Amino acid sequence: MTEVIDGNAVAADIRDGIADRVETLADAGVKPGLATVLMSEDPASETYVSMKQRDCEEVDMKGIHVELDPEAPASELYETIDELNDDDGVHGILVQLPLPDHVDEREVLRRIRPEKDVDGFHPENVGRLVAGNARFKPCTPHGIQRLFAAHDIETEGADAVVVGRSDIVGKPMANLLIQKAPQGNATVTVCHSRTDDLAARTRQADIVIAAAGMPEFIDGSMLQEGATVIDVGINRVESEDGSGTELVGDVEYDSAVEVAGAITPVPGGVGPMTRAMLLYNTLKAASLQTGVDIDLP
Ligand code: NDP
Repeated sequence: MTEVIDGNAVAADIRDGIADRVETLADAGVKPGLATVLMSEDPASETYVSMKQRDCEEVDMKGIHVELDPEAPASELYETIDELNDDDGVHGILVQLPLPDHVDEREVLRRIRPEKDVDGFHPENVGRLVAGNARFKPCTPHGIQRLFAAHDIETEGADAVVVGRSDIVGKPMANLLIQKAPQGNATVTVCHSRTDDLAARTRQADIVIAAAGMPEFIDGSMLQEGATVIDVGINRVESEDGSGTELVGDVEYDSAVEVAGAITPVPGGVGPMTRAMLLYNTLKAASLQTGVDIDLP
């Protein structure tokens, strides 16, 4: 019987633990603050940012939201980041990606103070992650590790295939999986658009992590019997009955669920975990910046 991994349930548990620790910080006079910066009119980005702000409210963190005109010069964004860096009430800064073409994304990521970089994308934080000394683990791969832990999915000694090599998901996921640490110790293959015979690789995997942004492109025929399948993809497609659009993952769920030992659905799998781990990183940032110990798991 395939285990369907309920990301909403695991994320709710994590949020409860976060809410308790927010109270501990409040007793010490600290309210964790997360600033989100949006420089885009992309409806998906707008939705992500508003969800992140709502998540903050739910655990009694302070949400600060800054919206910039996508046509504004890049300098406006840099100045906003500088102000947030200097604001003691802001412990975490998240600039929603993607950014307009005229803005240098790398400069933006470098400009956020590493101590406030709750996405974990600053080069210093990337380096620390690779060295096995992470300050902030990027939210999506961290959330996936928490799913493994919550569902007793053994990564040690497992053959894991990560499909996708982005800086946001694929690379940090692979880095975490190879570390000599809990939810690590896997043997990892990273695949991408130039990989030859992807199916031959995924069929050998005990764990497949699909993060390519290609709707339903991994199906049951590409999986080993009993594999754990983590579907990171969020793709909006025309619904089959023609009534509108729907969200699907990178995995063709109906055929994959017949073969997999465990699988995450879309929606309700990885997505809620990403959001919960952003709150976790903000909480950690507040604790590190104020020196108040909150016994983070
Ligand atoms: P990117 O577009 O940055 O990266 C996609 C990766 O997939 C690239 O490395 C690309 O290879 C690879 N790829 C593309 N086509 C193929 C193919 N046919 N075979 C093998 N590899 C392929 O995407 P992200 O990593 O940012 O996101 C991936 C997906 O996850 C998206 O659907 C996104 O919406 C979703 N997402 C979901 C989150 C969540 O919380 N659930 C969080 C973040 C993202 P190459 O490098 O060669 O181009």
